[in-house]
Amino acid sequence: MSCVDNFVDQIINGDNDYQELDRVYLYNRICALVGDDNHQDSTDVKSVLIQTAIINNKIEDNQTAKEILNDQLMDFLTPLPSKVNDKFWDLYQDDPQKATDYFYQLSQDNDYIKVKAIAKNISYDVATDYGNLEITINLSKPEKDPKAIAAAGKQKQTGYPKCQLCLENEGYLGRLGYPARSNHRVIRFMLSGETWGFQYSPYAYFSEHAIFLNTVHQPMIINQHTFNNLLEITKIFPQYFVGSNADLPIVGGSMLSHDHYQGGKHDFPMMKAPIVRNINLNIPDVKAGIVKWPLSTIRLISQDPEKLIQAATLIHENWKNYSDESVDIRAYTDGIRHHTVTPIAHRDGANYILDIVLRDNQTSTRYPDGIFHPHQDVQHIKKENIGLIEVMGRAILPARLKTELHEVGKYLLNEPNQMEAYHKVWADKLKDKYDFTSDNVDKIVDKETGLVFARVLEDAGVFKWDKQGQAAFDKFIGGLH
Ligand SMILES: [Zn+2]
Repeated sequence: MSCVDNFVDQIINGDNDYQELDRVYLYNRICALVGDDNHQDSTDVKSVLIQTAIINNKIEDNQTAKEILNDQLMDFLTPLPSKVNDKFWDLYQDDPQKATDYFYQLSQDNDYIKVKAIAKNISYDVATDYGNLEITINLSKPEKDPKAIAAAGKQKQTGYPKCQLCLENEGYLGRLGYPARSNHRVIRFMLSGETWGFQYSPYAYFSEHAIFLNTVHQPMIINQHTFNNLLEITKIFPQYFVGSNADLPIVGGSMLSHDHYQGGKHDFPMMKAPIVRNINLNIPDVKAGIVKWPLSTIRLISQDPEKLIQAATLIHENWKNYSDESVDIRAYTDGIRHHTVTPIAHRDGANYILDIVLRDNQTSTRYPDGIFHPHQDVQHIKKENIGLIEVMGRAILPARLKTELHEVGKYLLNEPNQMEAYHKVWADKLKDKYDFTSDNVDKIVDKETGLVFARVLEDAGVFKWDKQGQAAFDKFIGGLH
């Protein structure tokens, strides 16, 4: 059987909108993409179809063209957006979990979620003063093809879709420098009177990594509305946590231009961290406390989401205008706002839990990258922004570290190496601290990388875990009214 016939079989037997009567039509639609000739027989249907298209000169032999074609083919196996939405909400009536199970499976089966690429990521836990932190080295994003970058530079910018979080990506063909989305589907739902989309992240950082996006392309803003939306989402999807990146650049995420939240099914280290001091906000039915966590975090717990919104708004409004020179905290300098929060909501039985992480976006002559950002001495491990996922204790470290840390290992064993100079101060300290052997070196480097990540998070904390810092935290709490 030819690869095209084989693929038509798969489509007709799959869970989508096509039936036996569509066989001839499907055969021709696939020939339109891959060409009429050279249809070899193979079980690895997809890659043979892509090779066929290259041989028949239907596409160029490069990464972008192959991805675009792959997703066009996978689109045949995927029901129309309206059908996916119908089935999702049908299943939801029975059980929200069944609905997300269906959509998550679909998003993996049709190659939208890059399962194979994600499997390359390195991931392990390290015990620290703040419990086990999760370290991942992100190897899933494909290396950019220099030819594609050069070609993309010459392309006319259409401004469509406006960004990768826009709903207009659903079914978008893709182009050089912009991902293919023919097989992409988005679930629509109502959130506080607005239509929102729910989808998974194609390069997931954890289990069922979900994205909730406004169907209007508008900037991220943290306010009472945000707290309300987050708690609403945990009502609609009780099995998922959901959080928002802060709405300022250094302490926020990389996509501030499009209103969105991230969530999913994962118990992050921060969620397991205990409250060490209870605080009284004078809001009935709300339990509040300071969490034993490197970033300054206030945990709010209640069975009544309205009360949590009230408490979160109180903290946020006060923090926006709060300065304490003694610990370098300034709400405004030269009329520029520095204060915001990273809020994260999840459910625990009948309780709603809302963690409010205080953030300060200032820079200084001493800390040009950010006063509450990884300082220079830890930037050899992490210099990128500390966004939502890392705030919760899961490090997303750059791919370069895989080879770099291997070279550090060789240096520690006094073997010939090509260690980057910026790791030397750290590596020399490790040499003083341990006796390295080829058996223990990898383990120690992993552990010490985790300890550096703990320091990275401490740098992002506005109230440090020393006497002065905690007294300043209590002073801020004492002034909440
Ligand atoms: Zn957008």
